[in-house]
Amino acid sequence: MPKREAMTSGHSTVVDTACPLDCPDTCSVAVSVEGGRITKIDPSARADATQGFICSKVRRFGDRVYGVDRLHHPGIRQGSKGEGQFRQLNWDQALDTIVERMRNIRDEFGAEAIVPVSYGGSNGLLSQDTADAQLFRRFKTSRLARNVCAAPTTTVTDALYGRMPGVSYEDYRHARLIVIWGANPSTSGFHLVPHVRAAAREGAALVVIDPRRTALAKQADIHLAVRPGTDVVVALAIHRFLFEEGFADSAFLNNHTHNADVLHARAEEWTIERAAAVADIDATLLKRTAELYAEKSPAVIRCGWGLERNRNGGNAAMAVLTLPAVAGKFGVRGGGYSMSNSRALPLSETEWIGAPEPDTRIINMNHLGRALTEYDAPPVKMLFVYNCNPAVTLPDQNRILSGLQRDDLFTVVFDQVMTDSARWADIVLPATTFLEHYDIALSYGHGNLQLAQPVIEPVGDSRPNVDVFSDLAHRLGVKVDVLLETDVESMIHVTSALPGAVREELLNRGITDRAKPIQFGDTFPRTPDGKVDLLPDTLEQQAPDGLYHFRPDSDHERYPLTLVSPASDKTITSTLGELRTRLARLQIHPRDAESRDLSTGDIARIFNERGEIHCAVTVNPDVKRGVVSLPKGLWRRSTMNESTANALVPDVLTDIGDGACFNDARVEITRILNAELDGQSIAIWAEAQKPQNLVH
Ligand code: SF4
Repeated sequence: MPKREAMTSGHSTVVDTACPLDCPDTCSVAVSVEGGRITKIDPSARADATQGFICSKVRRFGDRVYGVDRLHHPGIRQGSKGEGQFRQLNWDQALDTIVERMRNIRDEFGAEAIVPVSYGGSNGLLSQDTADAQLFRRFKTSRLARNVCAAPTTTVTDALYGRMPGVSYEDYRHARLIVIWGANPSTSGFHLVPHVRAAAREGAALVVIDPRRTALAKQADIHLAVRPGTDVVVALAIHRFLFEEGFADSAFLNNHTHNADVLHARAEEWTIERAAAVADIDATLLKRTAELYAEKSPAVIRCGWGLERNRNGGNAAMAVLTLPAVAGKFGVRGGGYSMSNSRALPLSETEWIGAPEPDTRIINMNHLGRALTEYDAPPVKMLFVYNCNPAVTLPDQNRILSGLQRDDLFTVVFDQVMTDSARWADIVLPATTFLEHYDIALSYGHGNLQLAQPVIEPVGDSRPNVDVFSDLAHRLGVKVDVLLETDVESMIHVTSALPGAVREELLNRGITDRAKPIQFGDTFPRTPDGKVDLLPDTLEQQAPDGLYHFRPDSDHERYPLTLVSPASDKTITSTLGELRTRLARLQIHPRDAESRDLSTGDIARIFNERGEIHCAVTVNPDVKRGVVSLPKGLWRRSTMNESTANALVPDVLTDIGDGACFNDARVEITRILNAELDGQSIAIWAEAQKPQNLVH
């Protein structure tokens, strides 16, 4: 590979680039390089959204680049699957081995026996859906439904509002009421926090709806610690209040919506008292929240992804995102809602992929465990994993691991470090990080684009995704456009497929301006008639019991606790999980701990019929009673028995959008005692008694 111009060995330099990791903010970063090595990562002035600070996770990204887990060379498995032992290969050997297996599998089982698995390791436009898409589409492999995150909320916002941009972070300062619902900006998308605080200083009321007392919840006027899975009834109770108390904006509903009468009728059963009882919150606080929402304007709802991670997730998003329409909160700066802005810009990857999707099998990635262990038409014979760590990020972890264990499965993992998934690979391929290749970073918080450039030479033999997929395609005899052969060419190709004004700005300034629209002021629903259908027929058909319906949880008796796995300030999903140095701890409410004879520091067994986790607990009143919390994205080394929260997560799907139900993990917990037996340390636990005094 030729040397890149930005890297001048022996000299000190600071290079501006952008963080494309799966986080809403897409910060611009200034990377100091000395002697060809990264010495420091700071915020850069290029993006004003960065406001002079970046997260501590990316400040230490150099520890990933040069860490002991970094993959330097292709390798072929030695020993058993899961041991993570590999013999070094060169790229020719590795890619030729893959090519031979792909051809053999296609000839014997059909190309649909091959499943590419990718999600979220990078939000860079070049790292996914460029040469890889051409290769897998033209080879006619199975397709992957990337539904692990944001599927319900994306389906709902598309149906309600099209791709209408959300309220910008900056415009939160104009709001008189801010509702943070199912989001924790302090750990993800944290550039919103200063704007929330500024608004609060100027008198805005703050409501936080989350089962945990998050940092912002501690500063809020009202914190509704709802039981996971019940957000839908809380929102419906607010709807009912608005309709019944004369706060529904009939002029807005008549002019801009359809089917308000149906929403009104379906909210009818959810009185404040009934919703509060189901959500296990104080009815007075819920009523006060409804009153604040009715009275204050501008009012903005920051709708997060926490509320979608359960069986009612799609309906929760429907009920929450229709509130601004019913209350007439649009049309003013700082009024409306924010959700993902990833599709606020008029981008279409079909423009640059240039290969039609084949009519092949679609595998929902939330069912990867089933696919590996049950599907037989055809069976899955090969996984090609990139930008993804499915061994720890997907539901039903144990089923996935037993699938990865299969001798007749050929697994390729193309990643930057030896992830938990890579340990199960037959072939590992080393990938460059965002500091070693060109990319285009898309922000789903601000909705802007930035150019990202390499600041150092690729570490070891690592290569960018596009280079490897186009190389592999050539070896397979699959046509890949010459314009997608390297990251540099791909950047030119993708930028040339962008709308003219976006392209020009991106190339001139390295960044596009962020939209700061007024919803229903200067931006409107991108729906066929420009209106909001409060009862979209496709979603009404899709939801098992129709729209605006609540499905109770069924497994309270055996497993009285709900395990949630929220984002942490240590990782971006599982990215950087290798840098966690301490074992993770389960957070548990004091009364739940007391009834199980647990104290901070005790080792616990958290279990259900799918698996168990052994880890220490921390007794913490900030977690709702009946809920326990373990961080999202943990690597297996972060617990004592190498199981993470996803070992206990069912692979059931959300009511709308076929998303993951991470927060539907019902569990019980018991204390583990250590004892000596014949000179050996053993663990002992008793089956937990169901606590008598819990009302869930
Ligand atoms: S992970 Fe998020 S907050 Fe951290 S640098 Fe990247 S975009 Fe910024």
